[in-house]
Amino acid sequence: MKKKINSRFMCIGLLSIVITTVVMTIVFYARLKEQVFSDLSDIADFVVATSDYEIQIEDIRITYIAHNGEVIYDSKVDVDAMENHGERPEVVEANKEGDGKSIRKSDTLSESLYYYARKTDDGSVIRVCKEADNVVSMLLSTLPQIIVMAVVLMIICMYLTRYLAAEITRPIENMVEDMDRTDEGDIYEELEPFVRKIRMQHEEILSAVNMRQEFTANVTHELKTPLAAISGYAELMEAGMASDDDVKHFSQEIRKSAARLLSLIEDILKLSQMDAGEVEKVLEYVNIAQVAKDTVEMLSIGAKKNNVRVSYVGCDEADIRIGKEFAEELAYNLIENAIRYNKPNGHVIVSVKVKKGKIIFTVKDTGIGIPKEHQERIFERFYRVDKSRSKELGGTGLGLAIVKHICNITRADIKLQSEADKGTVISVKWLG
Ligand code: ADP
Repeated sequence: MKKKINSRFMCIGLLSIVITTVVMTIVFYARLKEQVFSDLSDIADFVVATSDYEIQIEDIRITYIAHNGEVIYDSKVDVDAMENHGERPEVVEANKEGDGKSIRKSDTLSESLYYYARKTDDGSVIRVCKEADNVVSMLLSTLPQIIVMAVVLMIICMYLTRYLAAEITRPIENMVEDMDRTDEGDIYEELEPFVRKIRMQHEEILSAVNMRQEFTANVTHELKTPLAAISGYAELMEAGMASDDDVKHFSQEIRKSAARLLSLIEDILKLSQMDAGEVEKVLEYVNIAQVAKDTVEMLSIGAKKNNVRVSYVGCDEADIRIGKEFAEELAYNLIENAIRYNKPNGHVIVSVKVKKGKIIFTVKDTGIGIPKEHQERIFERFYRVDKSRSKELGGTGLGLAIVKHICNITRADIKLQSEADKGTVISVKWLG
């Protein structure tokens, strides 16, 4: 970019110099002509006034021409050798207009002959002539100055150009160096949308990288705990330090930790598949009402043990393009949470409704609710309100993150309403 600006500016500079030189030459030449003819006119005035045609003026040739064009007197050339002058342009013009001018080539290349003719009262013509500079000689005589001026101007131009190019590109370079700078003060107006977009993308990339790093750290941490438990219990048993009862208890703990590891790995796999975009582009239509009913039936047996009643209300048919796996995953995670974070004698109502052509899946519970300050964050990976409770109940902290991901993929809006100690309503609305 700098190179381009540099060369463009230099071209403009050069062009300016050339144009200036040409214009100045034309102007000066016009002035010179004017001056020469004005001098000649003064001399002609003088000659006519004094009627002294034979007056000798240095460098000036005076010719006296009769009204028929015959040359009567010439201060420089022998009259006998001169042809009729009636057709000379300045004489023709003087006969017509009173005075006439013309410029003709001289023997010397660098000079021209300037003729000025004046008609007198008796019809004869007085012509005065002078040899003076022409355009070529003017240009040649000023050439050294022009060259010096051009060189000086080009040097100034070069420095100015370099400075200007640096000034123009500085905000862009600054931006490239430090993408996080939020002040847009010294950024060009025209570039602002572009800059905003780049910054946005940059921030998105950064936050994606951060999220991934955080996720990896969390995964490692989450996997470590059950693994440490398993190896701890196994070590105790290996050392023969456990009684029969202990062995039973330890085995139970090992099985629990293994189950936990399994569900963690399953959830992590699901999320990373979705992250990597390993999802079918065209998902098949699924009756979400049927899926909701089946999931309620499946989970209500376990819920009964915890004195939680799960029921389904709503329509029988509501087809959405979601794919069987996603539909089951979504229904399972939301209903399981509603049971898991419920209270004894609590209630879970699952519903699927069609409103204005839009399908809404809602899970409502009378459970422990989610305090306001946690509501924004519970869709984050591994975020739990009460870590130990979630772990104790077999939660991985990934269920809602998976639900959110499915909503994004299937273009659904997810809404959460919750009050601590009263209960939670989560509804998913497909935009159709
Ligand atoms: P988990 O496996 O821990 O349940 P989720 O991602 O499914 O992970 O949920 C994140 C957290 O949100 C839970 O740990 C819990 O604290 C809270 N939560 C989710 N659903 C509900 C609900 N229906 N009632 C109360 N709290 C809930």
